[in-house]
Amino acid sequence: LDSKDGERLRLFTPGPVDLCGAAKRALARDVIHHRSDLFRQALTELEEHLRAVFLTRNPVATLTSSGTGAMEAAVVNLFSPGERVLVPISGKFSARWAELCAAYGIEVCRMDLEPGQSPSAEDVVDRLTGDRGAAGVLLTHCETSTGSLTDVGRVCRAIAEAAKLRGRRFTVCVDCVTSLAIDEFRMDEWNVDCAIGASQKGLLSPPGLAFVSMSPEAVERMSRVSGARYYFDLRRYFTGTASPPFTPAVSLVCAVNEALKDLLALGLPAIWAAYRASSNAVRLTGEAAGLTPVAASQAGGVVAFWLNGLDAERLAAALRERHGIVVAQGQGSLRGRIVRVSPIGKGPAEIRAFARALASVLGDMGRSLCLEDIASELDRILEDSRVWESLPS
Ligand SMILES: *Cc1c(COP(=O)(O)O)cnc(C)c1O
Repeated sequence: LDSKDGERLRLFTPGPVDLCGAAKRALARDVIHHRSDLFRQALTELEEHLRAVFLTRNPVATLTSSGTGAMEAAVVNLFSPGERVLVPISGKFSARWAELCAAYGIEVCRMDLEPGQSPSAEDVVDRLTGDRGAAGVLLTHCETSTGSLTDVGRVCRAIAEAAKLRGRRFTVCVDCVTSLAIDEFRMDEWNVDCAIGASQKGLLSPPGLAFVSMSPEAVERMSRVSGARYYFDLRRYFTGTASPPFTPAVSLVCAVNEALKDLLALGLPAIWAAYRASSNAVRLTGEAAGLTPVAASQAGGVVAFWLNGLDAERLAAALRERHGIVVAQGQGSLRGRIVRVSPIGKGPAEIRAFARALASVLGDMGRSLCLEDIASELDRILEDSRVWESLPS
């Protein structure tokens, strides 16, 4: 099932993704003990690298869980039952923030948006300041269910200005799971209090680790909240000692550490530019085939298309069975209506292979995609994604 004619399937899904060479090599090594100097050194290095990708001087905790575990940790450590938070909701992942809050008795002021839309700075500030009790806001940088990007920098600037003007303080949490090492994100410059990432997206590693970084204000808030927490009591993790409270997924810590060394060597700005190029190339290809992109503001890590009557199941099956390419379908109410294609870690050759596969499959489904018409534009766009060619395989 994970191969086609003996060849491995390529994941064009927004997590998990194909592993980079460094992660694969690290995974083949023996397990080291988590109370050894060797492991403490790996964990310390990993935290340094994570600081570099979050662009922060704040501590970053590594949790053995998927990304949702870090979202849960953020919610229970930053807000008390009965407190209110604002959640702009435009898809499955932003809705998860609201579900988590509801599970812990934290009140949610919902800001509902259409799929593909992103919350504007003005609307967020209006809702936040209009709500007498709001203690914070939970944002989703890339809404992976639609590929829409929130302008977190702008939203945060507007929140900071409004807070200053009114002498209030809002705790800002950002789910960066599908934007970390993909889209530009600057934790400190943007005054983000809590940022979250996971191993299986832009870090080109297996699923299983999640990361939480907290500003000094957030760390202070953590000791004042009243709700129950144990495994995810982040005070256990932010001790500054590289001694994890419980046995972490040691092999994954080593894999992500090695992956980040190679990624950071490429340089974050080059990576951001590569994703703008690759996502644009995927978008252009789909549009040339008559598919309509879902996102008004396109994120780098995933491109979603309305299928306009095409059979989603058949399209995905044909790409997988005939071309070894795995794409994602819609979730929830979008199931059957959209297809999602992720260029995470994919260089020009792989994006071109996807375009050829899509052209062939759509041809069989009675649609046409003439790659010659867009060939020169694709070449021009993909120039920026050539940075992947220097990532060690
Ligand atoms: C993948 C993802 C998560 C985490 O999902 P897990 O399955 O728990 O790892 C969270 N937020 C977004 C936006 C994601 O894309």
